[in-house]
Order: sequence, then structure tokens, then C-alpha cells
Amino acid sequence: MFTYEIAQPTATMLLTEILDLETGLGIDLQSFLTRDLGLVMKDRGELASRYARDPSSPWLVCALCMAPVILVRTMERRFHFRHHPREEAEQKCSISTRGQLSAEQINCIKYNAAKESATHLWLKGIIRDSLIADEQCSEPMVEKVWRGMRLADRAQWRKPDVQAELNGQRLAFEVQLSTTYLTG
Ligand SMILES: [Zn+2]
Repeated sequence: MFTYEIAQPTATMLLTEILDLETGLGIDLQSFLTRDLGLVMKDRGELASRYARDPSSPWLVCALCMAPVILVRTMERRFHFRHHPREEAEQKCSISTRGQLSAEQINCIKYNAAKESATHLWLKGIIRDSLIADEQCSEPMVEKVWRGMRLADRAQWRKPDVQAELNGQRLAFEVQLSTTYLTG
């Protein structure tokens, strides 16, 4: 529903690293929050209702701690993201320890977070199934998702998504949905 009124982000924002767990891509805050007010309100409602239906399968999360987020509308009718209040108490977000993390570590955390997206898991499954279908290939080893892992572990580059052996050769597969990390 279009209202022909344009939503606006707040001037400052605490949460800036938002991950779409469907696509595995980061959200561009400026373009996400600067849209027709009706569309932003619709997504705001969608976020809340998805969490209400199943808190373990959220749509948008904080890319640093993986907590589901909500979209807050301020008194000035501007928008920003925050951790879902129910998660906030339990989850110690990396944002509070952010000053202690290097740019490389933050990059790792975000890269690993994208590995939990539906698209990433789907592609990983296709690679695994293809290797299983190949009789000359060893049983593929699939790297587990890291949700719930300690921050120190999430801040490290991890093993390839899928590994197998073919005729004595080691094969390693890594799924990358964003070009951001190609040089990483
Ligand atoms: Zn967080």
C-alpha cells in the first residue's frame, strides 16, 4: 500500500550491520529505510509477526550477534533497527565489544553470519548432494553452522563449506553470495 509519504532513517543508528537471513546479503540501511512509508510499515509488521510465529527463524538479524531485530519508529516518525527486546537481555551483542574487534574480525563475523542464510544453506545442500551422487567421490564433509558459537570462534575464518576427496585430490567448496569478500 502506497502512502506517498517517504520514510526516513534516524540521524544516528546503533545497529548498522543488518543481515537478511533469506538472501544472505546485508541490508543497505539508507535505501531500506528511505522508501514509501507504507512499504516500510509493512516490513516492520512482517518482521514482528515472523518473530511472533517462530523466534528461531527470523528474517532480519543483527549481523554481529545474530539476534532478531525489530524496526522502531521514533516520535519524529523516523526509523531504526534494534535487537528484539526479548533477545536483548540474553544476548551480549558484539556491538558492546566492538572497540576490541579488528576490522578483519568484524569482517569474519559478518562473513560467517551470511553462512546461516536460507540461500547459503540451500546452495551448500546442492553441492553436498552432487558429491554424494558421484560414486568416485568420498563422503562429503559439511561445515556446521555456527549459531550459538563463542564470539572468538565466529571472528575467525573457518573451513570451506563442503570438502571431499576425488581420486586422491582434495576438493574444497566455498559458497559466496556477496562479492564483498572475494578478496578475503
Ligand atoms: Zn547484535
